[in-house]
Amino acid sequence: MAEPLVPIFDLDGTLLDSDEALVAPFLALGVPRERISFGHVVGEECARLGIELDDYVARYDVHAARPFAGVGTVLAAVGRWAVCSNKDPRSGRAELRRLGWTPEVALFTDAFDGPKRLEPVLAELALEPDQVLFVGDTAHDRTAARSAGVRFALAGWNPRAVADPADLVLHRPVELLRALRTG
Ligand SMILES: [Mg+2]
Repeated sequence: MAEPLVPIFDLDGTLLDSDEALVAPFLALGVPRERISFGHVVGEECARLGIELDDYVARYDVHAARPFAGVGTVLAAVGRWAVCSNKDPRSGRAELRRLGWTPEVALFTDAFDGPKRLEPVLAELALEPDQVLFVGDTAHDRTAARSAGVRFALAGWNPRAVADPADLVLHRPVELLRALRTG
């Protein structure tokens, strides 16, 4: 039997139900809610909204976001896994520590020159594109998967996620376990 695929996850909106945690610092810094969007490189979104990244990170509460229901169980069951996120590493690593999550590789914005890319994650995992599945909640994630030649699954448990016709849509985290076995 073929080896199961190794999952690589986006963090915000995929593993973590973090929209409100992400929005709160922007609101506190005077940004109107309707101007805020999700999935961007955090520093680029701060620049677009006219605030300093360090001010944002200082106000980001690393205790606020909760995992989506069922995520913890799946992470405990998958064996190898990794994180690839456009989040600031100070926020993201603090959340991984708080949750006791220990992905084999976790890359954040400091690992990329611009939007996140899966190629450095694959290099650290010593895996080929056809040996992994990237799970994400936004078009930014889909783009990262396509440009690396990696299969993509949409975190359909996030009600904000919008499916593309070509997506494998996972409605609940537990569905990932089967997707990793069947490709
Ligand atoms: Mg996301």
